[in-house]
Amino acid sequence: MTTVDDNSAPLLEVKDLFVEFRTRDGVAKVLNGVSYHVNAGETLAVLGESGSGKSVTAQTIMGILDIPPAAVTGGSIKYHGEDLLKASDDRRREVRGEGIAMIFQDALSALNPVFTVGYQIEEQLRIRLGVSRQAARKRAVELLDLVRIPNAARRVRQYPHEFSGGMRQRAMIAMSLALDPEMLIADEPTTALDVTVQAQIMDLLAEIQAERRMGLILITHDLGVVAEVADRIAVMYAGRIVEQSDAPELYRAPGHPYTEALLESLPRVDLRGQTLNTIKGLPPSLLKIPSGCPFHPRCRRAEDVCRSEVPPQHRLGLGRTSACHFAEEVVAR
Ligand code: SF4
Repeated sequence: MTTVDDNSAPLLEVKDLFVEFRTRDGVAKVLNGVSYHVNAGETLAVLGESGSGKSVTAQTIMGILDIPPAAVTGGSIKYHGEDLLKASDDRRREVRGEGIAMIFQDALSALNPVFTVGYQIEEQLRIRLGVSRQAARKRAVELLDLVRIPNAARRVRQYPHEFSGGMRQRAMIAMSLALDPEMLIADEPTTALDVTVQAQIMDLLAEIQAERRMGLILITHDLGVVAEVADRIAVMYAGRIVEQSDAPELYRAPGHPYTEALLESLPRVDLRGQTLNTIKGLPPSLLKIPSGCPFHPRCRRAEDVCRSEVPPQHRLGLGRTSACHFAEEVVAR
């Protein structure tokens, strides 16, 4: 495990992060001042539709963004107080895996099809920690066991295509834990899975996170998936955080019209048979973000000021913010 001495700082703190993609069609402003933090033992859910910037923030934290076409144009990413954006490539490689690990949405593409699952876990242990082949195999079996893959000693010799979708995702989690990271970023870890397996994977992640006191960032487009496990939630829209809140508060009384609309679009057992609410319109093109509040073309509460002035982050309470001109009214409704 890699650490820097600074007990007072959050485990990870992203501050005013700006990222753009320089494309043939123009400059896409993908992140526009993203700030959030995660403490040890805490789960932060980062929520938003496709293109809101949640995965790009994660890739920037991990240092795996393709630069160019991407460019980080401002901000900091502090891990134990150390700004990773100013760190050398060697230091970033050290932090990746040993400090912060990542689980990807599509385990089939993330795992190498030509190597056994065991080999892929063992390779990290041998290269990064210098352990023997035999010790690495023993640890790989232990890790598969930890993520509840049955017959781990046999499964360790199998290839990714021999695993079901849920088992592959478990294998990815095992792989991400190999170097004993302090923090895990899970990017839509259950999107490709059916509902029962989704719940099992979320339970497993929550259990491992609590046991190891890891910081966990759960990236999702579905508020329903994270309801049981998130301590705090950051909602993203058009490359900005539009609301940040403790999870129970946000579910009880959303402080931003976008969060409100997301909650209303969740399926509810008591409304069975009724048409599901959806958010009208589409997320904006990041090549041409609307003026003022970027959500105004889709917002049922929009007024003139919303079209001309970017809303500041309003404080709604301890650690709670909303980037809406009418935040107080929305939360009090
Ligand atoms: Fe809607 Fe205006 Fe609030 Fe934006 S600032 S979310 S457009 S009410």
